[in-house]
Amino acid sequence: MKSRTRVVVIGGGIAGCSTLYHLTQEGWTDVVLVERNELTSGTTWHSAAQVTNFGMTQTMVGLKTHSIKLYKKLADDPDYPINYHHGDGGIRLANTEEQMQGYRHFASMARGMGVHFEVIDAQECARRHPLISTENLIGGLWDPLDGDIDPAQLCQALARRARKAGAEVYRNTPVIGLTQHPDDTWTVQTEHGDIDCDIVVNACGYRVNEVGAMMGVHHPVSSMEHQYFLTEDIPAIRDAGHRMPLLRCPISDYYCRQEKNGLLVGFYEQACKTWGMDGIDPNFVNALCPDDLDRVTDVLDGAFARMPALMETGIRTIVNGPITYTIDGAPLVGLIPGKRNAFCIIGLRAGLGEGGGHGWLLAQQIAQGEACYDTWGLDPRRFTGHANVELTALKAIEDYRNEFRFHFPHEHRPAGRPAKTTPLTPVLAAEGAAFTVINGWERVEYIKPDPDFHPTLSFRFDEAFDVVAREVKTVHEATGLCEVNGFNRIEITGADRHKFLDRLVCGAVPKRDGRVGLGYLLNHHGMVKAEATLANLPASDRGPARVWYGSAAASEYHDMDWLRAHLRPSEDVQLKSLTNDQTILVLAGPASRALLETVSRADWSADAFPWLSVRECFIGIAPATVMGVSFSGELAYEIHVPNASLYAAYLALREAGDACGLGLFGARAVESMRMEKGFLHWKSDLLTEFDPFETGLDRFVRLQKGAFIGREAVLKRHANGPRKKLVSLRIATDQAPAHAGASLMDGDRVVGTITSGDWGHRVGLNLAYGFVDPAFSDIGSTMQLDLCGEPVEATVIPPCPFDPEFARLRS
Ligand SMILES: Cc1cc2nc3c(=O)[nH]c(=O)nc-3n(C[C@H](O)[C@H](O)[C@H](O)COP(=O)(O)OP(=O)(O)OC[C@H]3O[C@@H](n4cnc5c(N)ncnc54)[C@H](O)[C@@H]3O)c2cc1C
Repeated sequence: MKSRTRVVVIGGGIAGCSTLYHLTQEGWTDVVLVERNELTSGTTWHSAAQVTNFGMTQTMVGLKTHSIKLYKKLADDPDYPINYHHGDGGIRLANTEEQMQGYRHFASMARGMGVHFEVIDAQECARRHPLISTENLIGGLWDPLDGDIDPAQLCQALARRARKAGAEVYRNTPVIGLTQHPDDTWTVQTEHGDIDCDIVVNACGYRVNEVGAMMGVHHPVSSMEHQYFLTEDIPAIRDAGHRMPLLRCPISDYYCRQEKNGLLVGFYEQACKTWGMDGIDPNFVNALCPDDLDRVTDVLDGAFARMPALMETGIRTIVNGPITYTIDGAPLVGLIPGKRNAFCIIGLRAGLGEGGGHGWLLAQQIAQGEACYDTWGLDPRRFTGHANVELTALKAIEDYRNEFRFHFPHEHRPAGRPAKTTPLTPVLAAEGAAFTVINGWERVEYIKPDPDFHPTLSFRFDEAFDVVAREVKTVHEATGLCEVNGFNRIEITGADRHKFLDRLVCGAVPKRDGRVGLGYLLNHHGMVKAEATLANLPASDRGPARVWYGSAAASEYHDMDWLRAHLRPSEDVQLKSLTNDQTILVLAGPASRALLETVSRADWSADAFPWLSVRECFIGIAPATVMGVSFSGELAYEIHVPNASLYAAYLALREAGDACGLGLFGARAVESMRMEKGFLHWKSDLLTEFDPFETGLDRFVRLQKGAFIGREAVLKRHANGPRKKLVSLRIATDQAPAHAGASLMDGDRVVGTITSGDWGHRVGLNLAYGFVDPAFSDIGSTMQLDLCGEPVEATVIPPCPFDPEFARLRS
């Protein structure tokens, strides 16, 4: 056994084997995989091993496409062929028009990744899958490439190719400890000796938290028991003359594929069960949980009704095994939060189909620092302090019960809520707030017109449209108040704080006390990594001179990791998170200044406190820090208040607000207004797949300012010209917004992809942003948006249709 290597991958299921193989593909061949038992002896060996192409984001579709191509290549290897039923096809069923709408959207989105799904009616479903009845069926989504693979052969093939390239695999070698050294390297202790390495990867399946504990980390991953059975032969299958396609049923929560001449049917029952919550027997190896078909009778009825042949067929085998879930159903693939040189590839609930792609994206992150797709939807840092064991289990149960029911726009499922609140949450609930969830925080979405107001889940504009319109009108004509909780806030102190930020930000860093600026951080490939509001506060009785680094709520761990990773030991810089201590009250609208003047003793005139200023003050008796910044495009103030004083500040504003026509507004009004201003959202429009010039951030880049992270790469990229350009679009319908991922077409050719879309209530336009081919980026260019299957004209418009001179927010 080696005593020193570059990377130790812990765990020899599909996740570990795929990572090892792809590391060798990246040219990292001095790498090792350690497995406590035999390869695939965790969950992988008993997987139903269906390989599908469906995903709800382009990254998921892209990584699954990689799996399919890779598995096909491996299967076709004459020296080591694998059993892979490639291209049996698969159908996701639907019995509501809303589900069909969703499928049409996902087909539009997949088109941009070169994947062709088909939306078919009930008769066509039955024609392609002759065993199903069309009772209570409208249609489905057809995925031509669905199939299934032999999981053990797949892992052996990956390990074999990795070994051939130089990697080593140590079986029956349990990892028993992990030690990180001051230089951030690791020692992996195994039962057969220690291995020193630069990087460790946790790929331990349902034992993820045993290994996590060795590095002092709890991963938000829970296991559920999951069952399928295999039937005896079914004559209709034997006689069909073709293999049966896969089925996924969101109506009755089961899946089904052909196995020999029978079926394999798996269930996502409502009476589901967590597994291993109080620890896992160390001898649970190549093992299964006891059968329990009684638990799935609700689902069985649905499957029998859809496939009557099942009722006449005997069950040959039942398989019940642990399967892992995270808080949002997507795996955790990437850097472990708060750790250096430590990655994970865990929480895979469809790991056979996805594993090839996840290992590919993880190996790129390890070797190149970033993957070819934006991997935020998989990033372990997307969950923060609330992601504890209890919340994870509740979300895992909810997700399991809804396995095939995709999230609709604006859908917020109830389990594990409320996780993060402020003192104002109950106050705003009493005001009638509907809440959305952002990084666990309950944030006001809008104020409901009546307590029983529940808009239809739909890809069209819903009943909240008019409610949002009224909130926007209040902000536009008078003044509105909105709580923005969980906003990421890092306090940066120390003499070198500006020097440090200058190295990270690609543009000008505001340095004068009392001034605020917007900065963009690039990665080493010159792509957009982060966005931050930088506010300079002078020394006061509240603290030393400091910069407040503010960014999206979801970026809390991501940005802190990035800042910490680039601190130099010689620098006098300290970083402290204030995210959980401070909340923002946004006051926006032409009457905001008048209101602020009545509650805060200071000169708030435009001369004394112009746009992009910051100062400490009091709102009534509440200490506050006020910034003159605006995401709505109206005159606005961000009032940052310690949570202990939040209610006091809110009361002061509310009581004085009546005279100024103050009303509450929520996140949906903010979304509408920011679209009218051309303002971008991190991880919707600001992605690591594009550089700042492609993203239209030219005015925030100062190439001549000297060294900053990503400068060399961005210079090179800039010289080559853009591959895509982010543009603002007008969508020629008032029926539905453009949804992220939807394709923009020129005839049959995909020429762009939507990143955000919403109705602009002040300009009366259906607005969207999208990355398009440069040839389609001029103002006035037109394309066809594939909007849930309907072609709708999309025209490029100037980036800021509302108040393009920025006069209102400067007023
Ligand atoms: C019944 C069932 C049906 C399924 N059907 C499908 C399907 O149709 N399609 C699909 O895509 N997915 C399916 N899945 C899910 C899929 O099987 C899993 O997502 C996948 O197998 C997980 O692989 P993994 O490598 O993450 O974990 P595992 O396969 O569990 O591998 C983890 C490995 O880590 C090792 N390990 C743990 N601790 C240590 C340690 N301390 N030291 C060294 N090694 C250690 C373990 O021994 C194990 O081999 C199914 C799952 C179940 C339960």
